[in-house]
Amino acid sequence: MSFRSIRIVLLLCLLGAIAAVTYWERWSVAQWRQPLQVVIYPVNGDGSDEVGRYIAGLSASQFEEIAVFIRKQSERYRLKPLPLPQVILGKEVHVLPPELQGEQRSMWDRLRWSLALRYYVFHNTPFWQSLGRIKLFVIFHQTRDGVPLESSVGLQKGLFGVIHAFADSRQNAQNNVVITHELLHTLGATDKYDAGLQPVYPDGFAEPDDGEHYPQKQAEIMAGRIPLSAQQAVMPANLAACVIGSKTAYEIQWR
Ligand SMILES: [Zn+2]
Repeated sequence: MSFRSIRIVLLLCLLGAIAAVTYWERWSVAQWRQPLQVVIYPVNGDGSDEVGRYIAGLSASQFEEIAVFIRKQSERYRLKPLPLPQVILGKEVHVLPPELQGEQRSMWDRLRWSLALRYYVFHNTPFWQSLGRIKLFVIFHQTRDGVPLESSVGLQKGLFGVIHAFADSRQNAQNNVVITHELLHTLGATDKYDAGLQPVYPDGFAEPDDGEHYPQKQAEIMAGRIPLSAQQAVMPANLAACVIGSKTAYEIQWR
């Protein structure tokens, strides 16, 4: 065999192994038999001391409401309530994850980026310990009014996500809403808002049963906003203002 074909065979073996591990991880988590384990890896988004201090002061307890929310919501759909998910605070990661570059974002760009992201996850987390755990990289930024953060991603096939959040304790509750949204993406949930970020009826509504009526009081977590009118919606302040709707529950195999 030539060097070139050996290289191709090795690459195919590597891709096959990644696919097998990915499949097994997703299958085992989707059974919901073990408590869901989520590790949050903080990343300093701008290298500033301000964000550094915020990260140094993080504790697992400020993410606990994510676990409580998931368990509580599961009671609406499952006969047996879910064991309380475990939210673990991982070590700070000192490298930023690869970004999807360029305007084109062709299929090839996306494939390269998703492989680079997988390598990033592999490189920055303990391999054996991380199997079957959801790995969320939360990139903290300084709060600047009116400057929107880059959009977060939760990859449905790799049990990991990249989340942009504000390094400000007043934003902790809303950060937890964003983290939970991306966490549910990694479990197979899809977005439930339209191109204008408006929740889609009925799946993106917290109370879809009485028809499309406004204003709604709560947000469906995968719609991400509380619809106030057909054209207006606001971010919920915290997870208490969110629910997991029946479509999302179905997608994450709660039925
Ligand atoms: Zn989303």
